[in-house]
Amino acid sequence: MTLDVTDVHHGYNGDPVFEEVSLSVSPGEVVAIIGPSGVGKSTLLRLLALFERPDRGRIEYDGTDVWAAPERRRLACRRRIGMVFQTANLFDASIRRNVEYGLRVRRSWLERLKWHLERLTGEAPGTGETLEALDVVGLADSATQNAASLSGGEAQRVAFARALAYDPDVLLLDEPTSDLDPRNTAVIEDAVLEARDREIGVVVATHDMNQAERVADRVAVLLGDGIIEVGETATIFEAP
Ligand code: ADP
Ligand code: ADP
Repeated sequence: MTLDVTDVHHGYNGDPVFEEVSLSVSPGEVVAIIGPSGVGKSTLLRLLALFERPDRGRIEYDGTDVWAAPERRRLACRRRIGMVFQTANLFDASIRRNVEYGLRVRRSWLERLKWHLERLTGEAPGTGETLEALDVVGLADSATQNAASLSGGEAQRVAFARALAYDPDVLLLDEPTSDLDPRNTAVIEDAVLEARDREIGVVVATHDMNQAERVADRVAVLLGDGIIEVGETATIFEAP
């Protein structure tokens, strides 16, 4: 699914955050959004996630102008998006149950029906997707462990697996490693590259320029005053 943001203006209480932001994300591409704190990185992600309607401009998923489309269509787009936040927000259950939770919001009635049929035949539904996603973050062997006992870094890896198991077309990450040590950060960054290899379009908002340089194909720099500059990673980080 290709995502296109065109000439988006957005703000709060009359104060503009963006003046004229345009950005596109293709399948199998990692785009990093960087910029100082308060510049609007989270706001842009919330717009991409279709949580908020922009004041002006278009947000298109595969050519559908989502805010001009019927609500049904918009919700269908919304179901193709996975999200990971700065904190994992796991519940007090096994790691496996936490990841399975991401699979419960099935996209179509057919997938939901298959799910219930699997349940009737006594198999645990979603086990394959769940263990495979946990494997990407190196936690498949810990699937039965309780999530409450995890470190912040391990919990964040579970949160990533939860988003990946759902097999989204677009994966939005809001400062996913800002509270993590280097080892867990490296696991998440590798998982981002794995998502890219699966033809997922990944957008990661980060204040860590080095992270952007490590994982991103393209970088969108928010400079404040509503300005955005987008370019190939190598070009953006080129010495002047
Ligand atoms: P960043 O993620 O880059 O730190 P944010 O997107 O969180 O920046 O915030 C950008 C600007 O928009 C800030 O000035 C912030 O105070 C303002 N802002 C963000 N969300 C809201 C909101 N829901 N209501 C009012 N102002 C907001
Ligand atoms: P429902 O409300 O659809 O009946 P419940 O949460 O009550 O679902 O769970 C019913 C059974 O299905 C439980 O035994 C639970 O272990 C199993 N289950 C629930 N969610 C999942 C899931 N995401 N993956 C695998 N099994 C699940």
